[in-house]
Parts: sequence; C-alpha cells; structure tokens
Amino acid sequence: MADNASLVARDLKALWHPCTQMKDHEWLPLVPVKRGKGVWLEDFEGRRYIDAVSSWWVNLFGHANPRINAALRDQMEELEHVILAGFSHEPAVALAEKLVEVTPPGLSRCFYADNGSGAVEVAVKMSFHYWRNVGRPEKQRFITLSNSYHGETLGALAVGNVALYKETYGPMLMETITAPSPDCFEREEGESWEAFSRRQFEPMRRLMEQHHHEVSAVILEPLVQCAGGMRMYHPIYLELVREACDEFGIHLIADEIAVGFGRTGTLFACEQAEITPDFMCLSKGLTAGYLPLSAVMTTEDIYEAFYDEYENLTAFLHSHSYTGNPLACRVALETLKIFEDDDVIQRNRVLADRTAKAFAPLADHPHIREVRQHGMILAAEMMKDPAKKEPYPWQERRGLTVYKHGLENEVLMRPLGHVVYFMPPYVISESQIDHVARVALEGVDRATRD
Ligand SMILES: *Cc1c(COP(=O)(O)O)cnc(C)c1O
Repeated sequence: MADNASLVARDLKALWHPCTQMKDHEWLPLVPVKRGKGVWLEDFEGRRYIDAVSSWWVNLFGHANPRINAALRDQMEELEHVILAGFSHEPAVALAEKLVEVTPPGLSRCFYADNGSGAVEVAVKMSFHYWRNVGRPEKQRFITLSNSYHGETLGALAVGNVALYKETYGPMLMETITAPSPDCFEREEGESWEAFSRRQFEPMRRLMEQHHHEVSAVILEPLVQCAGGMRMYHPIYLELVREACDEFGIHLIADEIAVGFGRTGTLFACEQAEITPDFMCLSKGLTAGYLPLSAVMTTEDIYEAFYDEYENLTAFLHSHSYTGNPLACRVALETLKIFEDDDVIQRNRVLADRTAKAFAPLADHPHIREVRQHGMILAAEMMKDPAKKEPYPWQERRGLTVYKHGLENEVLMRPLGHVVYFMPPYVISESQIDHVARVALEGVDRATRD
C-alpha cells in the first residue's frame, strides 16, 4: 500500500519529471495523487485539490467522468489498437467525420498523430511538402509570432518562440521569420484590443509581402498565447492574417491545441474571426484529458496535392505507432457528444461570467497589472510596479508562493512565471470558482508582500 511519503520517496529515486528542475524538489514538495473525481484530485491521506489548471489544460469534464469511463471500458472490450496504415476502425472514422463536421467549413480531412507537438510537426511538414508537390519547392520558411509556443519536439520548438524552452536548443533548430505578437498586454494606455491587434498586423503584413515567395506558412495560436503567459489578442488579427495569407499564397496553420474545445468561449477560437485555416492542430481537450491523441484538420486542396501515382513520390509518409488509437478516438467521440448533449458552450458562458466576477477584485491589487480573459481562460500578471510595467525579476519566482498557497487551500494553481491563471474543467461549480478566486487573491497578496 502506497502512502504519500513512500510514493514521493520512490518517485524521486526513479523518475525525471517534465518541465522541472529536479533539484527544486529538495525543498518544493512533490504532490502525490491517488485518485481524481470531478474537479478534485486527492492524495493518499485524503488531502484534496481543485484542479484549477485542468491538469495542464487537458481536462474538460472532470476526472473519472462516468460517461467517458463507460465509453472507454466499452471500447476496450472491442478493440484496443490496430495499425492505421492499410487498416481502419470505427472510432477513427467516426471521429474524423465528427471533426470535419464541427471544425470550420472547408476542413474536410483529418490526419491523426498522438500528441500536440506531433500534430504541429505534421502540419509544418505537410505545408512544406505541399509546396514541393505543386512545384514551388522554394517555399520552405515559416513565419511565427514572438512569444508563441507550439510544443517541444525540434520542429515544433523551432516554430515557437518562448526563450525559456527554445534558447538552449537554438543551434539545433531551423530558422524562422518572427513577427511581433498581437498580444494586447503590450498595447498603449487607452488603446483598445482591436486597435492594437490591427496595428500589430502591419509588421506581419510587411514580412509576408517581403518573404512570400519563400514562405510556406504562418503558424499561430488563435486568440491566446497560452504557454507564453496567457497573453491574449483580438480576433480581428486572425481575420487580417487569413486575408493576407490568401493574397500572398501562404498557408495558415492554426494551433488550437490549447484553445480548442471551448476554451475561448466558442468550440474553436477561429470561429470568433469566422476564418478557416489551411491546417488546424488539435490535441489536449480533444480527449477531455484522458488519452494522448492529436489531429491535423486540413482542406481538400491540400489533400489532393499529395494524391497521385505512388511512383511520383508525393505521398505524406509521416506516421506514429499509436496513430488514431481506437481507445483515444472513442474517448474523443464521447467528449464531442458531451459538448452536444449538455450544451456545454452555452453553459460555459455562465461559468465565464462568474469567473470574471469572482476574479475582478484581483484587478485592483497593487501588484497586478491587469486581469484578462477569453472565455474559460483568465489570467492576471503580477508586477513589481504595474503602473510602470516593471516586472519582478524572474529569479524571484513569486508564482511559487501562489502555487504553495493554493496547495494549502485545496487548490492546484500553477502560475506561469509571474502570471497567475485559471483554466478549469468545465464541470467546476460557481462556488468552486469563487473559492479559487479567493485563494488566488490571497496567494497574490502573500507573493507580493515584500
Ligand atoms: C501544449 C501545446 C502544444 C504541445 O502539445 P503536447 O501534447 O504537449 O506536445 C502545442 N501547441 C500549443 C498551443 C500547446 O498549448
């Protein structure tokens, strides 16, 4: 029988954790989890935490969701996995059909991978390969946004822009063209989100104008740059980029891995700009936090550029062992069914309003620059001097104080540097939202006291 202490001891002997300086665990306790139910995570001694970060932004309908559990059990009895090259199965087909139905019009093809970074690799390779296949092999470069994040395998890291993850590996990565982010945190006093996002499009347009003959695609995270500190922008930017991509013959890759599946208030963030990207990357919420799966949705035009006699060597030969895993596809199907049956997008409006109200007091805190929100993502930025936009030195790691305060008060929050954010499962109750908001405010208070 495991208990908290023995599990942690065994862990620290055998595991190497993601996104972690392991030495931190000499003083920062590792949190063992025995079970999850709904928004709650529970350790071996009955201590519990509201999962206010959806277990790294993946969980949508709570832990141990009865409907998803049942679907998974059912699928397990039927078929756990089969090779997807040359073979097919019902969950992969039904999910592809469903994704074609619910994603923006024109996305008619679904290519599976098994994690978010993998989906980004697929989209980047497909775009590059498309231009070779249509006789434009010089279109090889990618335009990315500053402060963007697209995953951590080498291709995905290359098209991302968060220095913390990227800098060390710089020499291994392909070079990209970087446009300044439309991130509205950078707007002038009194400037609207829309005006700023429009203004930030100008340098992007100039880069497209200048480089379009050698550019394969623009890749971006629609509306929220999540790993970059939950930085947000106005949908007008997506509209303008879409138009310019059409004008200059450049693909648009929308990385909806974090923002997809209702996070920004619509099922997909692209809907708010009424655009269809050439590639849409999906993962995270796709399986409601159950199993690794990802998909790249694309158009018939792209698909057809690969469709030819084998001898012409135009096929897209990318594959992963667990491509289109039946268990994961079945879980994804049940997830989408819950969206429909429970009118989740509509219900989330109520939760998003409550979130805005509950966290509003944070905006008045003397060390918070702003509270920003897109639907079910809310973030607040702790600063040394908010009026002067003077950040705390990153070495101070004040977010950890918020994190620890949360754990002492039944809340799992995990600030990104000095950005405190709330991105809960959609089954959270209004009183639980209020509790997390209260704990976040206290935590910020503690973290900024000296
Ligand atoms: C998490 C994330 C990824 C990477 O997904 P993994 O499954 O962690 O590889 C890519 N893009 C965005 C926007 C993400 O938030």
